[in-house]
Amino acid sequence: MARLIFLGPPGAGKGTQAEKLAVDYSIPKISTGDMLRAEVRAETHLGLEAKSYMDAGDLVPDHILVAMVKGQLEDKTIGWILDGFPRTIPQAQALESLLVELHQACDCVINLDVPDDAIVERLLKRQRKDDTEELIRHRLDVYRKQTQPLIEYYQERGYLNKVDGNRSEETIHTELKDLIETVSHTNGSV
Ligand code: AMP
Repeated sequence: MARLIFLGPPGAGKGTQAEKLAVDYSIPKISTGDMLRAEVRAETHLGLEAKSYMDAGDLVPDHILVAMVKGQLEDKTIGWILDGFPRTIPQAQALESLLVELHQACDCVINLDVPDDAIVERLLKRQRKDDTEELIRHRLDVYRKQTQPLIEYYQERGYLNKVDGNRSEETIHTELKDLIETVSHTNGSV
């Protein structure tokens, strides 16, 4: 069992690595981006509200995300991997209270570190409809301003592990597995 949080700029490879670890440890990956895109596709009330923010490359308001994640964590006693949440300090604070309420604790926060130019190149190759260079630069800017402060937040609490995300998928995956084995044994959660 493991409870992990992934931080890192858009396009750092969080989703790919989170997916592999979810398979390794048979635990669910909770991706707020995927959940929001599903809401948009289904044209739910929440999806309609979120869409304009997502199209503009901005963050969807905290209260929407917190409610969404709360619903996901409530029944996940076997562990989880959070991919794309939290992305702001208020989200991190809400998560902290929620975990106390649910008698759960995060094992570690992984910061996948990739330089801006490598990110822009990767995202342009990925060519999602919202991936124009201007929008990518804006999303990076939003990341630096709103999400990067979480690195210090989790560092101060002793959870942060920085991993160089500018290497092959397999090299990163192996390093992450080693890291998780180490922290899980230390925390007694494996
Ligand atoms: P992602 O696939 O994780 O890059 O998410 C796609 C988009 O969904 C982001 O650009 C945001 O607009 C929105 N989103 C996903 N997760 C969050 C979050 N934790 N807080 C606010 N907005 C989010």
